[in-house]
Amino acid sequence: MLLNKSEFLFKQAQKFIPGGVNSPARAFKSVGGIPVFFKKAKGSIITDEDENEYIDYVGSWGPMILGHAYPPVIKAVQDASFNSTSFGAPTEIEIKMAELVRQMVPNVDRVRMVNSGTEACMSAIRVARGYTGKEKIIKFEGNYHGHGDSFLIKAGSGALTLGKPSSPGVTEGTAKDTLNANYNDLDSVEELLKKNKDNVAAIIVEPVAGNMGCIPPQPGFLEGLRELCDEHETVLIFDEVMTGFRLSRGGAQERYNVWADLVTYGKIIGGGLPVGAFGGKKEIMDVVAPVGDVYQAGTLSGNPLAMSAGFAQLSALDKHPEIYVELEEKTEYLKKRLQTVLNEHELDYYLNQVGSMISIFFTPEVVTDFKTANTTNQEFFKVFFHEMLKRGIYLPPSPFESWFLSNTLTYDMLDDTIQAADEALGIAKLKAEK
Ligand SMILES: *Cc1c(COP(=O)(O)O)cnc(C)c1O
Repeated sequence: MLLNKSEFLFKQAQKFIPGGVNSPARAFKSVGGIPVFFKKAKGSIITDEDENEYIDYVGSWGPMILGHAYPPVIKAVQDASFNSTSFGAPTEIEIKMAELVRQMVPNVDRVRMVNSGTEACMSAIRVARGYTGKEKIIKFEGNYHGHGDSFLIKAGSGALTLGKPSSPGVTEGTAKDTLNANYNDLDSVEELLKKNKDNVAAIIVEPVAGNMGCIPPQPGFLEGLRELCDEHETVLIFDEVMTGFRLSRGGAQERYNVWADLVTYGKIIGGGLPVGAFGGKKEIMDVVAPVGDVYQAGTLSGNPLAMSAGFAQLSALDKHPEIYVELEEKTEYLKKRLQTVLNEHELDYYLNQVGSMISIFFTPEVVTDFKTANTTNQEFFKVFFHEMLKRGIYLPPSPFESWFLSNTLTYDMLDDTIQAADEALGIAKLKAEK
């Protein structure tokens, strides 16, 4: 049989790279089939190695809020690269970047740049522990904070998709310091705080969950966490790796008007280059080396290409807040039209949407947490996903991932997506009835 190029490349990749991929979320494990290999993209159109074009709803899992190959980002990277790709010494662009983050997110007095969201979250809990002198952390089942050992206990995203809520290689010693609460359930948090009195350093939460599909916080949930943290002298960490600079200029904090003590960033902040960041109140951030004793470092942290790309993208978002309005209008349009189509096909579904994040769960349940997210019909999603792919729509290859819209999506593209969804849902329904 003649292989297409993705099939050929995937065979080759598996010879040299574990599972053929450098991150499991790309592997198509939960939808089956061959991951598509891409070679270029512009705006919302992404082109694979066989020259097939797709409308992209992954956006590199979030960073591409202004579309692929956004000209100011490309130019910034090109310009910076001529002056060397790294110094391992301070540069002016790092100050500009930190000032801009502070301007967009007023409670981030101090910010430290790292190279990924994982690093940002690992560092943030170390800081919280150093600051409070306490040991345990509370996280939420189905939330994902990167692949740091402390977080791979009932984690979301790829870890959820692979059906391995925790990972071999994480020691019991580490696992015992991570306590799991239920998302949108303040009682479960309060109980853990009581049981571990005076020993919870931090609560880390995705303010809008995006790694078990998109699940918004119920009214009062984030406010309740804020109060509990104040009461128990626990550091509240918002993991805004996904939501930061996406749900508004100031991320989920601004959108819900609940302000954390520490915030972590990734994805959008790097404009598609590997960047993460953690920041917050000066009082807490002052424990970080070299001011304080909590060690945290990185040879390539604050890298000039990465900072230039991130600065170009954040500047555009800072100067054009109307982008958020447009994005939300587009996502609401998509949501309404999807609802109509889902209703016409008489399917059980629950649709969650916040800003430019949206997910369909194929379930009769109301989806508010990990347990209800898991009621989604994964077989149905599989068929739906592949039928969409055939029709030129590239969705996240998992029922437990949010779709990310870019402002380069046009209403024509959204209409094409709905048309494809109508056909794909019809086929998925027929197959399910067989
Ligand atoms: C993607 C993500 C991370 C991990 O970031 P990486 O850059 O992949 O290490 C952490 N937290 C959340 C909420 C994320 O969505």
